[in-house]
Amino acid sequence: MVKIAPLASWNNYPKQICTLHRPERYRQFSPDVESAIARGLGRSYGDAALNEGGQVFLSERLNRILVFDPVRGVLRAEAGVSLDEILRLIVPRGWFLPVSPGTRFVSLGGAVASDVHGKNHHCDGSFGAYVSAIQLALPGAGWVDCSPTANPEIFWATVGGMGLTGFIGEVELQLRPIASAYVRAQHHAASNLDGLFDLFADPDRDAPYTVAWIDCLSSGNKLGRGVLMTGHHAALQELPIGVRSRPYDLPAVKALSVPVNLPGWALNPLSVSLFNEAYFAAQARKRAPFIADLRSFFYPLDNIHHWNRIYGAGGFVQYQFVIPEPGASAALRELLKRIASSRHASFLAVLKRMGPAGSGMLSFPMLGYTLALDLSLRDPDLFKLLDELDELVIEHGGRVYLAKDARLSAASFRKMYPRYGEWLAVKNRLDPDHQVTSSMARRLQLGSAA
Ligand SMILES: Cc1cc2nc3c(=O)[nH]c(=O)nc-3n(C[C@H](O)[C@H](O)[C@H](O)COP(=O)(O)OP(=O)(O)OC[C@H]3O[C@@H](n4cnc5c(N)ncnc54)[C@H](O)[C@@H]3O)c2cc1C
Repeated sequence: MVKIAPLASWNNYPKQICTLHRPERYRQFSPDVESAIARGLGRSYGDAALNEGGQVFLSERLNRILVFDPVRGVLRAEAGVSLDEILRLIVPRGWFLPVSPGTRFVSLGGAVASDVHGKNHHCDGSFGAYVSAIQLALPGAGWVDCSPTANPEIFWATVGGMGLTGFIGEVELQLRPIASAYVRAQHHAASNLDGLFDLFADPDRDAPYTVAWIDCLSSGNKLGRGVLMTGHHAALQELPIGVRSRPYDLPAVKALSVPVNLPGWALNPLSVSLFNEAYFAAQARKRAPFIADLRSFFYPLDNIHHWNRIYGAGGFVQYQFVIPEPGASAALRELLKRIASSRHASFLAVLKRMGPAGSGMLSFPMLGYTLALDLSLRDPDLFKLLDELDELVIEHGGRVYLAKDARLSAASFRKMYPRYGEWLAVKNRLDPDHQVTSSMARRLQLGSAA
């Protein structure tokens, strides 16, 4: 199939005309054209999986699971297989993903190319740390196998490399054993940012999975109030008696759906602050630990299909940055003050703790804290605010996440990603004519001098 069509990713911005190919076999997945990029399930926010005026190779038909060893927990699959399909196979057999983003509707190739992180980054690192091998198509050079030991520089330029080293065909992944399909979770409310950081730092509340929701519209002595959510995979004895005999069965859930794009006025500072008030009060009441199934703990938004439509047809952006330790709490306070005073209403604001950086040359995570905000594009001065936030992020030694980016400048990118020169040397060796390219690569001038 070849089709010329407008294409956008999850946040519906930007929308660009691309030539779409949908190969049936990954051997047809060839970057031997002038300008091509691979695309998974389009769950990135921005232009990483777009190629305006060029070719986009969809990997949705390349979704075969090739090997699953239920004894060692090793899986090899084509890159277009979704994490959802993997979970359906592995959870009933006692395995889980080693690292999982906040949606299961991403492809294996997309998870590697963005080196995604989950709620356990502070304990376990990012996705690439569990990938034992990749098969990669290079322009004009066929296929190459790479791993942390074979062609390691190609491997670590590809993990987090946003699809720009070539097309990932197959991925081998080490899974995590679990005793049940449930998590023992607990919520802890904090009335301001200091309280939230105290909760993150409290060893009694430390858990393999932690994430906090923040009310970005609160200010004054409530600035940064939020709810820390913690959890660990539930052992059999922690499950309710009725569930213990079938610990890997997930309860049926009725998914909701947003049927159409909502009108622009639906999300505004008033509606978001009313939601935040009600949400904070409800969560603050839930003090006791509770048992949640994997899907509702890890992927709460997946139960609302097309939730991106609440931002209307014009779309939105997600701004996700990380600030390194030490100094993260003071820097976050400064950034939150700036965001709260701008009255840009972020319906979703998520704070996570991160552990040390992995080996991916362009990977996002670093030791510190990361905040992600969804922001409507209807606000005319939004990009001006985000440019100011970029300056603060750079000043504090942090960076913006490329998988969530649609508007960063090339100059800011270079200040945020100090290993770009190293990555560029591998890119130039693999793809000297820069045939593998995307709209993001052109915007950030990925390929030009470091
Ligand atoms: C609701 C939601 C929650 C999210 N939560 C998180 C989170 O907690 N943590 C996190 O890290 N991310 C998160 N993300 C972002 C998401 O995990 C990443 O953007 C991921 O890369 C999307 O995968 P995809 O298959 O949709 O890839 P796409 O969006 O299609 O592409 C993303 C990048 O991967 C490249 N790519 C895709 N397939 C291949 C391939 N076969 N070969 C080479 N390159 C390829 C593309 O070229 C592009 O650069 C979230 C996204 C959503 C919508």
